[in-house]
Amino acid sequence: MKRLHFTKSLALLPLMKKSMELKALGQLSNALSATEKMPVLFLGHGSPMNAIEENEFVLGFRKVGRELQKPTAILCISAHWETNGTYVTAMEHPRTIHDFGGFPQALFDVQYPAPGSPALAKETRELVKKTTIGLDEKWGLDHGAWSVIKHLYPNADIPIIQMSLDYSKPAQYHFDLAQELSVLRQKGILIVGSGNMVHNLGMVAWNKLNGDPYAYDWAIEASQKMKSNILSGNFQNLIDYRLQGKPFDLAIPTPEHYLPLLYTLALKDKKDETTIFNDQPVGGSLSMTSVRFE
Ligand code: ZN
Repeated sequence: MKRLHFTKSLALLPLMKKSMELKALGQLSNALSATEKMPVLFLGHGSPMNAIEENEFVLGFRKVGRELQKPTAILCISAHWETNGTYVTAMEHPRTIHDFGGFPQALFDVQYPAPGSPALAKETRELVKKTTIGLDEKWGLDHGAWSVIKHLYPNADIPIIQMSLDYSKPAQYHFDLAQELSVLRQKGILIVGSGNMVHNLGMVAWNKLNGDPYAYDWAIEASQKMKSNILSGNFQNLIDYRLQGKPFDLAIPTPEHYLPLLYTLALKDKKDETTIFNDQPVGGSLSMTSVRFE
C-alpha cells in the first residue's frame, strides 16, 4: 500500500513541478500588475572602475536608487552582451562576469549575487512578437549591468535579467523591439539601458583622465545634440544616428554603447518627465550622461 502510494506520488512529480512553475508565473504577473508604472533608466557606465570608486557618478546612481520605488525585478540591456538574435538570461542565479582585462584585483573580486528571474524571462519572451527571443542559460551579469546596478541596489536583492543586443539588426529594429516591452513598466519592472552616449575608446585623451571633465569639441557637439533630441522628443533623429554628421560618427564609432539608449527612448510615454543626470564628459571622448524617464 505504502509502496503504491509512493509510486503514485513519484508519477505526479513532473506534473506538480509544471503546475508550481505556472503558479509562480501567475503570482509574478499578479504582484506586478498591482504596482504603479516604473521609471525607465539609461545609465552611462563608463569605466568598470566606477564599480569600486567613490566619485560623483556613483553618487548619482545611489541617489536614483534611493529615490525610485523598489522594483519587483530589473530588465537590463547592456552594451556588453551582443548576440546573433535576441536572448534573455533565464537562469536562477546569474554569475558575475568580469568581462574586462588590466584592472586591479579588487575589481575582479566584486561579486553581485542578485537572483535571476526565469519567470520574467519567460514573460518577456511571450510578450515580444517582433522576433523569437531565446532563453539563455550561459551568460549572467556583465559589467555593463552589475557595475552600475550595484550602486542602485547594493544589497543585490532585486532579481535581474539581461536582454542581449542583436548585432545583425539596424537601430530602428532595436527601437521597435523595445516598444513591445512597455507593458512591463506597469508590472513593477525597472528597465535599464546601460551604455554610453558618447563612447570612442580609440580617441580617449589618456592624459586628461585626472577626474576633471574634459571633452573634445565634437564630443560636446554630439552630446548637446543628443540631449536636445532627447528632451524635445525627436527620437527619429537619434534612431537615424548615421545621418547626423561627423560628431555623431565620432561619438558612435560602433553602435553597442549607444543602442541601449534607444531601448529606453522607445519606452518613454507621453506623460513621462525626462531628467538628465551624471551629465559629464570623461577623457575627451566619453560621456557619462544618464537619463531617467518617469
Ligand atoms: Zn562599456
